[in-house]
Amino acid sequence: MNGTVRTHFSRRARIAWRAAAALGALGATATHAAAQRRADAPEATRAATSAAVTPERDQFVEGLLRQMTLEEKVGEMTQLTIQAVSRTEGTPTREHELDPAKLEDAILRYHVGSMLNVWDVAFTPQHWHQVIRSIQDVARRSRLKIPVLYGIDAVHGNHYMVGGTLFPQNIALAATWNPELVRRSNEITAYETRAAGIPWNFSPVLDLARQPLWSRFFETFGEDVYLTSTMGAAAVRGQQGGNIGSPLRVAATGKHFLGYSMPLSGKDRSTAWIPDRQLYEFFVPSFQAAMDSGLATVMINSGDINGEPVHASHRILTGLLRERMGFQGVAVSDWEDIIKLHTQHHVAPTQKEAVRMAVMAGVDMSMVPYSLDFPKYLLELVREGSIPESRIDLSVRRILRLKYDLGLFRDAYPDARLTRNIGSAASQAVSRRAAEESVTLLKNDGVLPLARGTRVLVTGPGATSLPVMHGAWTHTWQGMNTAMYSRTTKSPLQAVTEEAGAANVTFVPGSEIAKEIDIQAAVRAAQGVDVVLVFLGENPSAEGPGDIEDLSLPEAQRTLAQALEATGKPVVLVMFENRPQIVREVEAGARAVVMGYETGPYGGTAVADILWGDVNPSGRLPFTYPRYTGSLVHYDNLWSEKVGQGEGMVRPQWEFGYGLSYTTFAYSGLRLDRAQAGPNGTVTATVTVQNTGRRAGQEVVQLYVRDLYASIAPPNRRLRGFQKITLAAGETKTVTFPIRVQDLAFIGMDNTPVVEPGDFEVLVGGQMARFTVAQPPMTSTAVPAAGGS
Ligand code: BGC
Repeated sequence: MNGTVRTHFSRRARIAWRAAAALGALGATATHAAAQRRADAPEATRAATSAAVTPERDQFVEGLLRQMTLEEKVGEMTQLTIQAVSRTEGTPTREHELDPAKLEDAILRYHVGSMLNVWDVAFTPQHWHQVIRSIQDVARRSRLKIPVLYGIDAVHGNHYMVGGTLFPQNIALAATWNPELVRRSNEITAYETRAAGIPWNFSPVLDLARQPLWSRFFETFGEDVYLTSTMGAAAVRGQQGGNIGSPLRVAATGKHFLGYSMPLSGKDRSTAWIPDRQLYEFFVPSFQAAMDSGLATVMINSGDINGEPVHASHRILTGLLRERMGFQGVAVSDWEDIIKLHTQHHVAPTQKEAVRMAVMAGVDMSMVPYSLDFPKYLLELVREGSIPESRIDLSVRRILRLKYDLGLFRDAYPDARLTRNIGSAASQAVSRRAAEESVTLLKNDGVLPLARGTRVLVTGPGATSLPVMHGAWTHTWQGMNTAMYSRTTKSPLQAVTEEAGAANVTFVPGSEIAKEIDIQAAVRAAQGVDVVLVFLGENPSAEGPGDIEDLSLPEAQRTLAQALEATGKPVVLVMFENRPQIVREVEAGARAVVMGYETGPYGGTAVADILWGDVNPSGRLPFTYPRYTGSLVHYDNLWSEKVGQGEGMVRPQWEFGYGLSYTTFAYSGLRLDRAQAGPNGTVTATVTVQNTGRRAGQEVVQLYVRDLYASIAPPNRRLRGFQKITLAAGETKTVTFPIRVQDLAFIGMDNTPVVEPGDFEVLVGGQMARFTVAQPPMTSTAVPAAGGS
């Protein structure tokens, strides 16, 4: 298209990839520890991890690779769950037990390179140490003494370790609009994971929450590309730092590559219909941004896109991931997903064919996770000539490099001294701060903050349930084993009681999640109080167990809220939920609505502090909150989607980016430093924000850009920048945003990024300014990828 500028996915990364491949051909041997020591350059001098190319590492890895038998290589690509090498599961009162015979069989006979998970409940740090030590002891007895790489889901803190610091789920972290809190909480998680002896974390989720029915909505950073890219990159930086070989860092995993989060039916791991153009526009950038921040590994989407299972897609796993995006790290399958090419997706007539398809597509490691058929089939396939050994070498090289970068060849054993600061007061303070900054005030007709001495009725299923406040992946997969929860964590009821004083608090359960208990008792109790606090909730769940039929609030909770609203007492709704439940019918009669997401151990405390005004709310919705179960739109809708306030328009309950404060902010003087810019230019926007209320507060200054006309129907606006600022009462600040024109690219008809000349509007806090992207003097140029932070 004439007069347009094409941009490319990370050309730099592609060049780096070629260089790495060339270096990988170097050969030499060295002892594990000696080679590893030389690579221990100080953090600051090392490049982003997945792009780091150290000749020592490559000499070492190539030397090892040359010594490996084919059996050892296919074993290296195999990952087992701990259950497969264990005798008994753990319970809240009894530690799980490894099975030494199975462990030896897996490592010494099958050369298994990696293990994961817990069975069934979180382990103590001491038990983790014992488990990792036992595994590495066996690995040391193997011919080449290659250490085993252990991986775990530590998705909101190292929740599979007793005593670990738990953080809000990602959806709540995104609501803070504070990337530094995301970085910091991930840094703590990395430390506490390493302290357990585990160097690899299956986090962060980089999927986009574009389908609210989906059971893993809460694991995402919300619906927007820019916010998710920014938070995802911050999470990677927090976990990996500049050096995953540090004893305080881990290798992060961007998951689930890609397009997992928008199943057509809403059901987990069911088919997604995503045209390539939308795939590149919406689902690639968060992964690209994470890769540009050094992301070490990716985990693959279990589902299919347009009928193409991602685990079997050479186009996606090699063409897109490796060649287009320049990823050099390890691609691990998700749980049992190679087998599922046969059993679930029916694209492979046999399990063996499933293995061939997945490996030839580009999978490096199979999260098997129970059986040892994968290495057996892989061996046969190579021996028969269906898979070239060079393809196996490629994956094994990536895995060995990862182990090397993690420092495992130097020392794969846990360090008991590291456990000292697990769950420290400083770490807990970060979690509490994150909870405070995430809680989002969605409605307030003046009833909040509550005055001292206000008598309240506390009711509803969210008031006493710790699981509801924490979400899934808490001590157990689904988070429902209450025996595992810390005795010191305060439920919302306990936190409110502490805040208000026991004499001012009446508690009546009202209802369970989906069953009435004593609604009439709650109605009677309302007569004796000033304000009613209804804690709505959804039980935690993730993946298949979290599949639902619709987004409706369960009838029992609706009845409870409406019965209390009918009393005429002011009702405040507080919501802890996995995804937006439809609250239209209860919102109307409520005087205030507080969104608690799944804020973790300090959810109750943060909500109480906000209700009584000790904390001024500053969370903002990271997704569009729907009003009707059948009207699901996103903030960056096309004009044809008719989203807005007028008649016949789709009107969300609350908009993306929305959230109230106890103070008010006024925007003025939005201006741009130029009216026109070239395609490689930058336009700088400046806006003045004043705190016009009587108390200090934090405001999230959000910058949106609207491309007025484009060859592909443009969205009504896209988030292109944000800054969270703190303003004292009456204070004014000027906020500046550089807008790089190339970051305004969209994916054009031919599936490559393009910026078209024309007029653009910049929208900040109700202010608008316009600029023009001029016709470029040249016809093409190469710049880094669109998206990212
Ligand atoms: C999930 C992944 C997780 C893996 C290992 C899978 O079922 O989809 O997100 O990392 O299990 O626990």
